[in-house]
Amino acid sequence: MDSQDYCEVALKVDSEEQAEIIEAMVVDLGFDSFQFEEGNEPVLRCYIQTSLFDGNALGDALAGIPWFKGGWSVRKLEAADWNEEWERNGFTAIEVGRVRVCPAGSEEAGDGVDGESVTGDRITILLDPRMAFGTGHHDTTCMMMKTMQDNSEDIVGKSVMDLGCGTAVLGILAAKLGAGSVSAVDIDATAVRSALGNIRLNGLDFEVVCSDASALKEDAYDVLLANIHKNIIISDLPRYRKALRRGGRLLLSGFYDRDADEITAVADGLGLTLLSSCSSNGWACLRFCK
Ligand code: SAH
Repeated sequence: MDSQDYCEVALKVDSEEQAEIIEAMVVDLGFDSFQFEEGNEPVLRCYIQTSLFDGNALGDALAGIPWFKGGWSVRKLEAADWNEEWERNGFTAIEVGRVRVCPAGSEEAGDGVDGESVTGDRITILLDPRMAFGTGHHDTTCMMMKTMQDNSEDIVGKSVMDLGCGTAVLGILAAKLGAGSVSAVDIDATAVRSALGNIRLNGLDFEVVCSDASALKEDAYDVLLANIHKNIIISDLPRYRKALRRGGRLLLSGFYDRDADEITAVADGLGLTLLSSCSSNGWACLRFCK
């Protein structure tokens, strides 16, 4: 599969509150990441795979917001531009529970990888600072990492799939929490390269396949992690269920609180039972059992 290019839509807004309202509206059009920039002229940057971008649909959605004064521009990002975006926006170390995610090569990261990456109950994950998805800074990634730690008995010794792995931060965490085996899948070839680099950086070795849910094996995983867009999750849920072993755990995020009931209802209809849920800044994270 070819690397997917992204479009960046830059919208002029008056405040972070406005940016949040617009985010919540356009996420349904397929936009999957957002960046709010403060300043004299605040801007909300929204990112979407080029193949999903529909300018008319975006125009219609924005026209429905009475206070939106207009002003948006689109530019196509080539895969390599992510590096530039990354460097512009920076990436600092972050702590989630007992896990610290650090940019490789930074002072915080030091030079220890393998031996020192799990010290006592502290876990360090190093990530190549050139890639944009899955640094742990996003609420959805944080919640997935927290849910995994809070339920580490789900993971120890088990077979884990990190679907939509991005940087592979979740798969790497699963391995460091003691998973028996880990594998990962991402639809984007650039993400796959980044994931493979990060896995090596952390002294680990597991497979990353460039594909989508069609690559899942049946009855093969005890834990399936998917921090992806709502519409993709809803359409792929039957595949997730088939891929999980009986008693297996499904951890989902990447959607808003207001969509959690709909996703739970679809999962319930497939025989997946909701075990726990959490939310952060309007984003949701759900944990199911097959
Ligand atoms: N797992 C990381 C990254 C989440 S971003 C984290 O939790 O932070 C979502 C990722 O899903 C992106 O890397 C994107 O390329 C990938 N993705 C989007 N649609 C997908 C699909 N249908 N199948 C597999 N991966 C997909």
